[in-house]
Amino acid sequence: MTLISLAQATYVVAAVLFVLSLAGLSKQETARRGNVLGMVGMVLALVATVILALDLSERQVWVTAILIALVFGIGATAGTWRARTVEMTQMPELIAILHSFVGIAAVLVGYNSYMTAEVDAVHQIEVFLGVFIGAVTFTGSIVAYLKLSAKMKSAPLTIPGRHAINLAIIIVSLGLMAWFIAANALVPLAVMTGLALALGWHLVAAIGGGDMPVVVSMLNSYSGWAAAAAGLMLSNDLLIITGALVGSSGAILSYIMCKAMNRAFMSVILGGFGADGGSVVGGDAYQGEHREVHAPEVAEMLATSRSVIIVPGYGMAVAKAQYPVAELVALLRAQGIEVRFGVHPVAGRLPGHMNVLLAEAKVPYDIVLEMDEINDDFPETDVVLVIGANDVVNPSALDDPDSPIAGMPVLEVWKAKQTIVFKRSMATGYAGVQNPLFFKENTAMLFGDAKVQVEAILTALRVREGAAA
Ligand code: NDP
Repeated sequence: MTLISLAQATYVVAAVLFVLSLAGLSKQETARRGNVLGMVGMVLALVATVILALDLSERQVWVTAILIALVFGIGATAGTWRARTVEMTQMPELIAILHSFVGIAAVLVGYNSYMTAEVDAVHQIEVFLGVFIGAVTFTGSIVAYLKLSAKMKSAPLTIPGRHAINLAIIIVSLGLMAWFIAANALVPLAVMTGLALALGWHLVAAIGGGDMPVVVSMLNSYSGWAAAAAGLMLSNDLLIITGALVGSSGAILSYIMCKAMNRAFMSVILGGFGADGGSVVGGDAYQGEHREVHAPEVAEMLATSRSVIIVPGYGMAVAKAQYPVAELVALLRAQGIEVRFGVHPVAGRLPGHMNVLLAEAKVPYDIVLEMDEINDDFPETDVVLVIGANDVVNPSALDDPDSPIAGMPVLEVWKAKQTIVFKRSMATGYAGVQNPLFFKENTAMLFGDAKVQVEAILTALRVREGAAA
């Protein structure tokens, strides 16, 4: 077996590992194994690609080898540093910026391929589509990064006739593709690149409010198709397979998230959802009187309850409160109190955010339930602790058809006997919508950092336990 055929066989093994990795990532219990399989697959893919890229018969092969090693070194150092320093709450923006790298890579591969490969209509279509998808992914991901990191307002940009503008860009691009195939000229490719960059920017800028989760997974899908297009241009089978896997799994995830949020897939993709007549209320808009409680009172309520549901949200991630929350759960369960978690599909800032945090804090999987599994149980629940969640427990999503989050299913926490909301102020959540939950009679606000407050409840419970002993 030659080195080349060994490298090609390695590609097949890597592709199988990627499929197994995706299968593993679909369940919490197997997610760690899925990650490991993906990493092993990627190492094999990189080694095989380097073997295929190096022409051993060439006299200057060591120059290419040094250049590849240098690029590897720089990439691996930057990647390791970023992965080690990134906060869990910054993951979505990191993912968004990484997607933009895939997009720009597809654009560069396209231009390189145009300049170096022979003219052939099929290859020209590959180049044109690759550059188009890559450019849309590039600017779209940059806007997503800016919105997720709060460097740009999350509200949707709604230019009049925005759908007509998008459609016009696509139609003009089709015309440019015909010109490009006929003349193999740089001008139509360059003009299309400019238009696709503008389209990517506009598509994501037009999506706002609580619909960003779908954008994150949609851009994931686009980056997969951009990689597949680069694979076609480079005639690299593994890149085509991997790109198609990422592209299709991202599309399926976007569809699932749209269903979970009761959104029409196309309306989110086309942007501006919830903007028409939507009433985005500023953080200072109050809607009545709210009641405040303190940690010792909450500890007393918990100690005398039979059933408790905890609803975690983005604020729990910011405060890193999952560790004391896990301790609180263990303590209450030891006293025979039923404690479960209700996790909304878009809680936090990335799909599965809360599940990852709770697993990290070693909360048992079997008490972490999804929204649909737990929503009917709130009326029979004594105390609900809403820890740093806001949009995912907002009743206006169900009651107010004018709300930007109207139609999104939410955790119906207000149906419980008593709801405690942990947050630092009366400010709104990600979607910028005021939350009538805070003003309900059976709701009390526990102001302060979520971690500090959960720790204070733990202390009060331990003091109570000590006094009783
Ligand atoms: P929200 O962003 O709606 O609310 C989080 C709340 O946490 C805020 O109201 C904030 O209030 C509070 N908070 C922040 N820091 C702390 C702290 N240290 N201690 C206590 N509280 C704190 O979160 P949800 O999880 O309810 O909703 C997620 C939102 O993000 C949805 O709109 C969703 O669409 C969107 N989104 C989700 C993505 C996903 O994939 N899951 C991706 C992108 C967006 P205060 O400032 O007063 O403390």
